[in-house]
Amino acid sequence: MQDCLFCRIGRGEIPASKVYDDELVMAFKDIQPQRPVHILVIPKKHITSLAEATEADTEVLGRMLVVANRIAVDQGSTGGFRSIINTGHIGGQEVMHVHMHIVGGQEPVGPMLKR
Ligand code: AMP
Ligand code: ZN
Repeated sequence: MQDCLFCRIGRGEIPASKVYDDELVMAFKDIQPQRPVHILVIPKKHITSLAEATEADTEVLGRMLVVANRIAVDQGSTGGFRSIINTGHIGGQEVMHVHMHIVGGQEPVGPMLKR
């Protein structure tokens, strides 16, 4: 996936505000933050979406969840956060490389969906 935007960020070819990095995943600030804290966590390997994830992706997807709280607290979302993974057309996924949004701050994020 040479041209995939988030693969390129993962390889350091496109600059991003990196906030976390390990052997499986990295995290960086969303370029258009929706809340005071808005971070994207990505697998370093290309996975198009959760619709394409397989058993072999269990460890990396688990890592994304396990590091989320540490990243949120480090970024100042100390009382919790919301994690969101959009999948496919129905889920509103725009970048076709799995990413988990971590959104938060000092104020509650609000209802999950607009009513
Ligand atoms: P989604 O709608 O779940 O696919 O979210 C894609 C997210 O990627 C949006 O919140 C964008 O603001 C964010 N985004 C797109 N390009 C970049 C970039 N170069 N660096 C950081 N975030 C980005
Ligand atoms: Zn990719």
